[in-house]
Amino acid sequence: VLRLKFSDIYRQIDYDALYAELGWEPKDSTEAEDKGYCLDLWNMHNNGDTTGKLAINRDKGVYNCWVCGGGTILSLVMEAKHLDEQKALDWLSQFVNPISKESSDEFYARVERQLRDDKPEPKPLPHFNERVLDRWLGDYHPWLARRGVSHDVATYFKVGYSPAHRKYHPRNGEYVGEAIILPHFWQGRLVGWQERWLSETPSHIGKYTNTMDFPRHETLWGFDFAMKQERQPIVVESVMTALFLITEGYPAIATFGAELTNAQLVQLRGFVKGIILAPDNDGGGAKFLATAKDYLSAYIPLLQIEPVKGAKSDLGDLSAAELSAHLRNVEVLL
Ligand SMILES: [Zn+2]
Repeated sequence: VLRLKFSDIYRQIDYDALYAELGWEPKDSTEAEDKGYCLDLWNMHNNGDTTGKLAINRDKGVYNCWVCGGGTILSLVMEAKHLDEQKALDWLSQFVNPISKESSDEFYARVERQLRDDKPEPKPLPHFNERVLDRWLGDYHPWLARRGVSHDVATYFKVGYSPAHRKYHPRNGEYVGEAIILPHFWQGRLVGWQERWLSETPSHIGKYTNTMDFPRHETLWGFDFAMKQERQPIVVESVMTALFLITEGYPAIATFGAELTNAQLVQLRGFVKGIILAPDNDGGGAKFLATAKDYLSAYIPLLQIEPVKGAKSDLGDLSAAELSAHLRNVEVLL
């Protein structure tokens, strides 16, 4: 089965049919762009959008609202229809219009060609109005203190708490629970956030979830901050561990898991003084280390911190005193 990507289909979307299904009506259109009232999916417009701030660019397959932010049409559909990426793509493909300039045979031939070439198309990152975080800021949650994240660090990175956070699932419906909100800023923009659930979640919701189209493969958490520091950053897998390290005075970056992508490796090259790798104590961590070493050792100095004892452990499992003792065992990777 040929799995389509968004970049394969967005030029063929029948936007009129899509708009009708989304209940949206453009007020003004140019050759490439439709403008109309914002769908206000994040309740960011105080009195509704009365001036028509939402623009959809059909050529690029992107949307933008002056208040809410923007991203791909796929991410808009994910949010509007509460679908994950694959389901949203399936849903969106019903609006693919084969009666365009190319026949459906030509269309599939082109898609296959593109898949063979597999040249990565730059995907526009989602971005959000930072004010969306305001509703979760305020009190310093005791769970953060227990995890070794100081009030100052939590405030700086706009870490929030949502007492009745909502997560939709296409089949299982809505779940409401307590969550810590971990914002992700990239090049000065809010590109999404992770939710660290504090409540007991049903099996279809993991301990960590994130916003639609979350750029976990294209970006690194804490990059902007680490770039401004004198010392080499410690690279870890999880955002919570990075926040703990920063609290203890060590610049840190998180990769959102053990998988290191090419885009992330290229970004890490920017740390010309080197980086300190701190993999989790598991198979994923070993792979993380090998991938980093393989690619980066030709470019920048690499240091490694020995894994924390205990299966799946990481630096976040240590107390502040244990951390400072543990960080004395830094090895140079050759
Ligand atoms: Zn808006």
